[in-house]
Amino acid sequence: MALLSTDKRHWIKKAQEAFNGYIRDRDSGLPCVSCDRSEAEVNQSEGWKPGGAWDCGHYLSVGSHPELRFEPLNAHRQCKSCNGGSGNYTRKNHQVAAAYRAELVKRIGLEKVEWLEGPYVPKKHSIEDLQAIAAEYRIKRRELQKGHHEDIEYA
Ligand SMILES: [Zn+2]
Repeated sequence: MALLSTDKRHWIKKAQEAFNGYIRDRDSGLPCVSCDRSEAEVNQSEGWKPGGAWDCGHYLSVGSHPELRFEPLNAHRQCKSCNGGSGNYTRKNHQVAAAYRAELVKRIGLEKVEWLEGPYVPKKHSIEDLQAIAAEYRIKRRELQKGHHEDIEYA
């Protein structure tokens, strides 16, 4: 059943779709953040998957850190195989998380990784906040697609 537009979950979903799409485009051309396989290699082995080969993978998960669900430093393009299909406590998941962290330190620096790891004051998003986030990331993504960027901006 479709969610009503008065339901906050509807707007969380809209904002997350816009944000995730932006992240996938922002990191276009980069290898997977956690297995380091190249774009070509991942496309070849996983391109058949519904929704394509790539996800927006959160370093600290949306479930455990909902306040970081729209934080661009916390989200990077990840192959579907790394992002899904393993439980939170499986051996594979630990390896993926450790590799993600190592790559994140290279991409954004240890200081920002440690900032993500907190502690910090959790954010609560109102419906208006969520609408603004959805609009912001749709615009950012359109700008990326027009090629109005040179270096990746994480904020
Ligand atoms: Zn991967």
